[in-house]
Amino acid sequence: MKAMEKILISGCLLGQEVRYHGKDALCDHHAIFQWKNENRIISICPEVSAGLPVPRPSCEIVGGDGHDVLRGVAKVISISKIDRTDAFILGANNALSLIKKHKIRIAILKRYSPSCGNNNIYDGSHSGKIIKGSGTTAALLQENDVKVFNEFEIEDAIEYLKTVDLQKVKII
Ligand code: SF4
Repeated sequence: MKAMEKILISGCLLGQEVRYHGKDALCDHHAIFQWKNENRIISICPEVSAGLPVPRPSCEIVGGDGHDVLRGVAKVISISKIDRTDAFILGANNALSLIKKHKIRIAILKRYSPSCGNNNIYDGSHSGKIIKGSGTTAALLQENDVKVFNEFEIEDAIEYLKTVDLQKVKII
C-alpha cells in the first residue's frame, strides 16, 4: 500500500487557540477533515513552539521578509517594540525539524502571518498594510524545498499533492 504524504498545517488553522490574541483561525475545508481522518496532519504553531505566550503582542517583520530575517538583514519586532527575531527563527527551525522528521514536502500555513505567511505579510508598520513576502517559518520551509500554501489555496495544494504522489510512484 502506498504511504500517504504527511502535511504540515498551522496549529491555528486546526482550531488551536494560539494566535497572538488568544483565538484560533479554524479552517473548515473538507480536505483538512479528510487528512485528519487519514492521520496525515502534523501541526505546529512556530511562535508558541519557540516559547512565546498566548496571548502575546503582535509582531511584524521590519526591513524585509522572512528570507531577509533568516539572512540577518531584517528583524521581527512586536507592537510593544520588543525584538522577537530569535524566537521567530527558533520557531522556523522547530517547523523544519518536523518537516525532516516526517519527510514532509507540503505545508498549509496561515496567510499574512510574520511566521506562517507564504506569499504576503504585513509591512512592519502595524497598520494592516500587506506586502509581498514570506513569514519566517514559511521562508525557511520554502528554502528547504517545501511547497507552502495558505488556507485559501487548499485546492491548489490538493492538485499539487497529486503530482507529489505521482513522483513517489515513479521513484518506486
Ligand atoms: Fe497560527 Fe502560525 Fe501565528 Fe501560530 S505562528 S498562531 S500557527 S499563524
